[in-house]
Amino acid sequence: MNNLGKIHFQRIIVLAALTVLYCARLAGAADQVLPIFDTHLHYSRPAWQSIAPQDAARKLEAAGVPRALVSSSPDEGSLVLRRTDARRFAPVLRPYRNEVRSGNWTRDPKTPAYLEARLKRGIYKGIGEFHLFDEAGAGTPTVRRTAALAVRYRIVLQVHSGAAALRALFAIEPKVRILWAHAGMSEPPAVIGAMLKRHKNLWVGLSFRAGEIATGDMLDPAWRALLTRNSDRFVIGSDTYVTSRWSVYGELIEAHRRWLKLLPAEVARAIAYGNAVRLFGSGDIKALEK
Ligand SMILES: [Zn+2]
Repeated sequence: MNNLGKIHFQRIIVLAALTVLYCARLAGAADQVLPIFDTHLHYSRPAWQSIAPQDAARKLEAAGVPRALVSSSPDEGSLVLRRTDARRFAPVLRPYRNEVRSGNWTRDPKTPAYLEARLKRGIYKGIGEFHLFDEAGAGTPTVRRTAALAVRYRIVLQVHSGAAALRALFAIEPKVRILWAHAGMSEPPAVIGAMLKRHKNLWVGLSFRAGEIATGDMLDPAWRALLTRNSDRFVIGSDTYVTSRWSVYGELIEAHRRWLKLLPAEVARAIAYGNAVRLFGSGDIKALEK
């Protein structure tokens, strides 16, 4: 081999080595566990007996969930998790306590004062999750005052409702920012897309929707289009609304990771944690990416 041949040969070796290194890095990135910001956690009274606060924190750690929004019936559940691990758990204030529940809170006259007394502590990222079963529920004085509180304290409302009740709420309080729980639970992608287009203050949680978004490793085409077109508006949620869901917490999060992997990496990162970090200001994104 002459000198020129040797140089050429060395170049090929260097190029091959670089290619191997690059592919190894790509594979490493794909293997990395995507951190999840869980925006829909509950730690309500029935869970307190079987899951100690430290166990709850350990479950999130094991599932790769460094941040979570937690709302509970009663609110003490969220506060005890915050005391256990304030970096991981951020409370959202639920109106439900004692006899005030999903079916009657919209007409409970004492609820706005209850909420305001707690909001003054300045620790809550939102009010909710609460239920609105119809448009009439969205128009009661209690709900109006609750929405006004969210605007005044610059926090979100986390609302479990269909699209019609949400539209009614935005009509009453256009400045309110809403995190729509379960994307309306049964609303189809076309309706969710129309809501996002119409209401700029709307963000959408995806708890309970993993099964529709993808079957096996096939993303539903309508969901794929919706998620990629609005990648800055969606967030993940587990929804531990009954204690049994705490025992399968890792699987609930994994079900979301499965469909997230089928999206472009930057869309997946935004939905997994980026959007929630921006919305709820819970520390720096770099810390989650480690
Ligand atoms: Zn819900």
